[in-house]
Amino acid sequence: MKAAVLYRVRDLRLEDVMTPKIKDDEVLIRIHATGICGTDIHIYRGEWKTRMPIILGHEFSGVIAEIGRGVSNLNVNDPVVAEPNIPCGSCYFCRMSKRNYFCENLQAVGVTINGAFAEYVKIKAANVYRLPKDLSLEEAALIEPLACCIRGVDQAGIRIGDTVAIIGAGPIGLILLQLAKLAGASMLIQTDMEDARLKMARKLGADYVINITEEDPVEAIKRLTNGYGTDVAIEAVGSPKAITQAMRATRRGGRLNIFGVSPQDAVWEVKPFELYDKELTITTSYRSPFTFQRAVKIVSSRKVNLKPLISHVFRLEEIQRAFEVAEKRLEDAVKVLVKP
Ligand SMILES: [Zn+2]
Ligand SMILES: [Zn+2]
Repeated sequence: MKAAVLYRVRDLRLEDVMTPKIKDDEVLIRIHATGICGTDIHIYRGEWKTRMPIILGHEFSGVIAEIGRGVSNLNVNDPVVAEPNIPCGSCYFCRMSKRNYFCENLQAVGVTINGAFAEYVKIKAANVYRLPKDLSLEEAALIEPLACCIRGVDQAGIRIGDTVAIIGAGPIGLILLQLAKLAGASMLIQTDMEDARLKMARKLGADYVINITEEDPVEAIKRLTNGYGTDVAIEAVGSPKAITQAMRATRRGGRLNIFGVSPQDAVWEVKPFELYDKELTITTSYRSPFTFQRAVKIVSSRKVNLKPLISHVFRLEEIQRAFEVAEKRLEDAVKVLVKP
């Protein structure tokens, strides 16, 4: 099969490789579309270490091509998505009910083992979710980030009537926006550097948008909230600077969720007194523990709209260009998909 193999930092090659052989408890999925995630870009740039060579791609949709002998709940040709994280089930954390995210032996398709920038991917059947036939498989490729965002909104603890600021209007920020609205936010403020993204935020439900290259986001958010700041702020950029903005935009006694994944060696400078004085509740959000089923349900019910986030669709042969567009956000890129 054709696959994009990452040999080392920024060395991504399209190659013919062996189609994966499945075990009894696995299925082979013929890939329809795979999203380029910030995590893929981090790995590609060397900001997040993993073994190489590797086939990246953990946000994917497809159709079942083959099922293992022990699989009884799925059929060939089923349209599916799959949760990429594979916990071991027997380590300390797996037995402390934190299964599927703090696992000491956690494997993740497209992060630690071969993923979906390829024609086929294999994965345990237990990780696979069947989709309704009428859901677009391109939209379905965004179910994995949606599942992560559901975790973020759970962690942020948004309550009906809360004012919410979302720092960053990339694919994640725009999903968080829709989920925060569903969770009952009374006012949604979104910030970004790019007008095209902010325009989309408006379309998808933001009450106010702030271009941080034109005005100070913290001042603007304070102005919109009678000087208090929002009840909740979610950082969806992955940079210390954005975390500081989110922290300062949150009201005293408010809740800050650090959702974005900063580079592994980035450092956040903070005055502890500021945190003390605010009695902030700070949460983070790690992957998608037990949120995949909910993500499939909410997208199937059409209560979130992932389609507008897809700005580019490339063929697998164009993977280098696809990574360039996603990394540098060329042509107003939001979510970039790759299709074999
Ligand atoms: Zn991702
Ligand atoms: Zn484990």
